[in-house]
Amino acid sequence: MDRKNLWAPWRIGYIQGLDKPNECFICHNLKDRKNDKKNFVLWRTENSIVMLNRYPYNNGHLLIAPNRHIAGFDKADEEELLELVKLIRESQKALTLAIKPQGFNIGLNFGRCAGAGLPGHMHIHVVPRWEGDTSFISSCSDTKIISQSLKELLEQLQQTSKKNKLPNL
Ligand SMILES: [Zn+2]
Repeated sequence: MDRKNLWAPWRIGYIQGLDKPNECFICHNLKDRKNDKKNFVLWRTENSIVMLNRYPYNNGHLLIAPNRHIAGFDKADEEELLELVKLIRESQKALTLAIKPQGFNIGLNFGRCAGAGLPGHMHIHVVPRWEGDTSFISSCSDTKIISQSLKELLEQLQQTSKKNKLPNL
């Protein structure tokens, strides 16, 4: 059987940045309010932030994170937990309206060995899927093409959010 690897060359910047000490891009984006557009921040809610993943596995890959730099669910309070789950729902709504995915992978990685690039600050991945796209984690055979620029996608999601009053927590 052929071994197939995920081919995601745009992720190299992310991989190379992993060893930078003391740098949490989520906390950075939370503080850097004036650069929401540049940082691809889609929503800020009371306890959380939603942003586009700069190094997406697929078009429309969103990250949902609590405002607090906490590693896992065990450190989150009830309010944060509820908001994170509601934001999954709202993210799916916005993506469905904007780019019409046929499915979603939604998940979390805890610990480097499980693939967490940023183990200190938990974040939920929301990855839209279409029939025939490349696989989320396991494999793909062709060069993956992310056809829409992040800037364009952010604008589209912002317009959709405004029009549909999202997030509606
Ligand atoms: Zn953080």
